Amino acid sequence: MKKLLFLYLTVFFLQNTIAQNTYIMCGKLLDTKSGKMLTKQTIVVKENKILSVLDGYLLPKGAKSIDLRDKVVMPGLIDFHVHIEKEFDRNTRLNNYIMNEADIAFNSVGFVKTTLLNGFTTVRDLGGTGVNISVRNAIDAGKIPGPRVFTAGKSLATTGGHADPTNGSSRNLIGDPGPKEGVVNSVEDAKKAVRQRYKNGADWIKITATGGVLSVAKSGDNPQFTIEEVKAICQTATDYGMYVAAHAHGDEGMQRAIIGGVKTIEHGTYMSNETMELMIKHDAYLVPTITAGKEVEEKAKISGFYPEIVVPKALAVGPQIQGTFAKAYKKGVGIAFGTDAGVFKHGNNGKEFGFMVEAGMPAIETIQSATITNARLLKMSNEIGQIKKGFFADIIAVDEDPIKNIATLENVVFVMKNGVIYKQEID
Ligand SMILES: [Zn+2]
Repeated sequence: MKKLLFLYLTVFFLQNTIAQNTYIMCGKLLDTKSGKMLTKQTIVVKENKILSVLDGYLLPKGAKSIDLRDKVVMPGLIDFHVHIEKEFDRNTRLNNYIMNEADIAFNSVGFVKTTLLNGFTTVRDLGGTGVNISVRNAIDAGKIPGPRVFTAGKSLATTGGHADPTNGSSRNLIGDPGPKEGVVNSVEDAKKAVRQRYKNGADWIKITATGGVLSVAKSGDNPQFTIEEVKAICQTATDYGMYVAAHAHGDEGMQRAIIGGVKTIEHGTYMSNETMELMIKHDAYLVPTITAGKEVEEKAKISGFYPEIVVPKALAVGPQIQGTFAKAYKKGVGIAFGTDAGVFKHGNNGKEFGFMVEAGMPAIETIQSATITNARLLKMSNEIGQIKKGFFADIIAVDEDPIKNIATLENVVFVMKNGVIYKQEID
């Protein structure tokens, strides 16, 4: 009798465990670490984690299963440069004056959903008004669907610099923004601005080390921080466990940023050979954003799309970005996949892969930069970027082998994040 009861309890227990788990049968499974394509694998998902990855197809009776036997399965992608608060259009300049934080938040809800449904299960947000922090929290709390977000909150700039929020405003509206608003003009300001971001809940610090394309200001590439200011920012960020990302087009500003201690250079348009060597020496990574370069070049040709002062900058910078990326990759600079989504339509992030391949980076390496590399820079190497026991169940699928056809990454058919299915367009 005792034996029978034991047997009954064991069966009951096993059935329940099996019933809780999800079995994903994968025709092909990309091992992002080794770069190998595995065939006929089963991923067992328990709650938000990967319980195991098994050889062959396994489906215990009564268990929940997902049939991806004719798909290619990979870990969720990581975009290292997005702006979840907005999407540039003709009205962007006007919107800066008429939109309130609630409007921005409502728009973001759609942007983060689109991003997730296109296979990006983690993003690094590089600057907005600070609403991005609340959006991250809402996603984490399960209130809205979206990727894991690591955000810089509001970017740091100098007065009149690329991320000075009052650029191009009437003098009646300019005021005098300071470190609290993300504008710094001394070493002391720099420290306070970083501490303020920490207090506000930022995960990263972003600085605009040089002029930029879309700000209402003349130069798109001049250096905008002193090296002492950059150092103060990076040292303070280190105190609070944060890395620093630097927007940079011009070479001088880029060098100051790298020597000052930033971890990633965004865009990198006019990067010299010497600066590439500096990046390798300092273990800094280039975030290419080629898609944004293509977009601004195209949109600058449409009369009235951007303010007049932006047009010559867009036409000069846009076409350079892909070529610089090609040179930097060839030279051995570390590449962290990032697109600048928001400058173009959210959800089109996957186009970047094709542009990187076109510039000479092998497809598998573009995928590794969007998984392994970015996971490492987020200090999450053991949690995301691979399909492996103990990792978060961030799993996507596409129709074709991306190594043979990289464009398939623009059409993600299955998305699971944290063990929850958000998209399942499979027949
Ligand atoms: Zn950006």
